[in-house]
Amino acid sequence: MRPLSFLLMILMFSASKVNHLTGKKTFNAFSNKQLFPMALQQYNSFLSENEVIRGTTEQAKIATIGKKIAAAAQRYFAYKGYPEYLKEYAWDYNLVKNDQRNAWCMPGGKIVFYTGILPIAKNDAGIAAIMGHEVAHALADHGGQRMSISLAQKSLSAVAIKATEKQPEEKRKAILTAYGIGSTVGAVLPFSRKHESEADKIGLELMAIAGYDVNEAPKLWERMKAASQGKSPPELLSTHPSNQRRIDNLKKWAAEAKTLAQKINSQP
Ligand SMILES: [Zn+2]
Repeated sequence: MRPLSFLLMILMFSASKVNHLTGKKTFNAFSNKQLFPMALQQYNSFLSENEVIRGTTEQAKIATIGKKIAAAAQRYFAYKGYPEYLKEYAWDYNLVKNDQRNAWCMPGGKIVFYTGILPIAKNDAGIAAIMGHEVAHALADHGGQRMSISLAQKSLSAVAIKATEKQPEEKRKAILTAYGIGSTVGAVLPFSRKHESEADKIGLELMAIAGYDVNEAPKLWERMKAASQGKSPPELLSTHPSNQRRIDNLKKWAAEAKTLAQKINSQP
């Protein structure tokens, strides 16, 4: 074992947090209290720099489906025994005019869909599948973990992570990169295969709890795959590598997600 990975392990151990949906321990040096104001600031500046669509059928659809996914997340956490977990979330759903095939959810529940992804989403269940997946990344703190790892690799010390709090520009870059928003700040790190898989599974469960047909999720990813063939991949794919395994997994998990949804939705 190299000294670097040993130090990283110590740091990971000292900054671990439990993912309530999976029960797994994760490495996260950021609390929601630190993360949410950072995210909100970047979210607001993103909206002010982009054309936000209001008063259209599509925009209303994003908001309606978003509310259902948010309500599903609340029911899911309550079912797991953490009804207060999303208390600090202030959900928001926006559609922006942008040809990129992209969508994301920042910590705290700030969701943005780009118009470019709507033809691939195709229908309500397709939108719900994308939204479930993006919301799952936020609920599972994947961005916070990515930020923590990239900062830890840079600094190898929790002290240095603390120091970053005083550097707004560094913080800005880290959060944009961690959530796949930062085309203006250089390369976007891909989420790891493990995080993708986790977001696929939780996302599928969320769409099932929200009452959407889970069989649409693998179909959505088939469309993503088809859209990427022969040309540069859609932006969502560049951060969300699609493969046959993802489609196969979604088919495999469909029945389980439906059963879980029935159980959760039958509770008073
Ligand atoms: Zn993803």
